[in-house]
Amino acid sequence: MLRRVLLAASASERVRHLITTAPVTRDVVKRFVAGQSAADALAVTKRLIADGRLVTLDYLGEDTTEPDHATAVASEYVTVLGMLEGAGLTAGGRAEVSVKPTAVGLGLPEHGEKTAAENIARICAVAKDAGTTVTVDMEDHTRIEATLRLVSQLREDYPDLGCVVQSYLRRTPGDCQALAMAGSRVRLCKGAYRAPDGVALAARSEVDRNYARCLRILMDGPGYPMLATHDPRIIAIASSLAASTKRAPDSFEYQLLYGIRTDEQRRLADEGSQVRVYVPYGSDWYGYFMRRLAERPANLRFFLRALASRH
Ligand SMILES: Cc1cc2nc3c(=O)[nH]c(=O)nc-3n(C[C@H](O)[C@H](O)[C@H](O)COP(=O)(O)OP(=O)(O)OC[C@H]3O[C@@H](n4cnc5c(N)ncnc54)[C@H](O)[C@@H]3O)c2cc1C
Repeated sequence: MLRRVLLAASASERVRHLITTAPVTRDVVKRFVAGQSAADALAVTKRLIADGRLVTLDYLGEDTTEPDHATAVASEYVTVLGMLEGAGLTAGGRAEVSVKPTAVGLGLPEHGEKTAAENIARICAVAKDAGTTVTVDMEDHTRIEATLRLVSQLREDYPDLGCVVQSYLRRTPGDCQALAMAGSRVRLCKGAYRAPDGVALAARSEVDRNYARCLRILMDGPGYPMLATHDPRIIAIASSLAASTKRAPDSFEYQLLYGIRTDEQRRLADEGSQVRVYVPYGSDWYGYFMRRLAERPANLRFFLRALASRH
């Protein structure tokens, strides 16, 4: 309920103004976001990799409405990939990038899909030269078909292009079956958006069960599963599945968000699992931040406590 209210409120301009101008917000945002610049992102990436983790960098922003802006977002990815390569962090895919299709043009009123495909292809070409990969984030349910089409088309040239499926959607076990093929990098998450009841599962328990079902499909298949969750029960199921299916530790990875369950990230890495941290950076943090507040009451309490302590 709270999640629905917060996700709906996040679309309001008044709420956006209130949150983005509150003096305390920046302090709280720092917990989840690496910083404003590519240099900030690079510094965090270096630290995480030195500490035994892998990284996927996300340049914050979504729902781009101007073609030039979509091109500028792609250019930012090109720049940051160059910086990562220069620092020796891209070899073997240790640091890669995650791209939101609407940030690079998918939602443009004209030629959105073509523009997004061209921009992602440009990023993929630079990533490939740098020895690393790209993952295409999944956004709200109205973007799924176009995003899967994009990925399938781009995989002809860049077979290691990663994609994302969300267990809050009823369709996702079918998508997992279709995507569980050799070499296919698939990130499985619960989903951070809202969707109508016929499309999405309503209860958290159903979303979790669907996650476990999708997890089995991906772990039983020949692809490369990327298990994006902080949920201790799901991580435990994944570990035991990996053991029972005799999956080599380098044939799948756990993924967690920057600033969330850092101890668990270390524990998994210390026991020999691959752990990739999703590190967002940039100034357009509002949508990302609101989704983090919406998915966990403790995050919201932390924010409200910080707000109260300033008054
Ligand atoms: C690497 C990564 C990439 C993602 N990419 C996408 C994407 O492309 N598209 C998309 O829609 N969504 C994406 N998400 C977000 C995802 O869909 C969920 O919204 C988000 O991960 C919360 O779900 P959860 O699996 O952590 O479980 P939740 O149901 O939120 O939490 C389950 C349990 O995890 C633990 N937990 C969760 N958060 C915390 C915390 N802050 N501190 C301590 N314990 C905590 C608690 O025990 C909690 O009960 C991504 C998430 C990750 C980790």
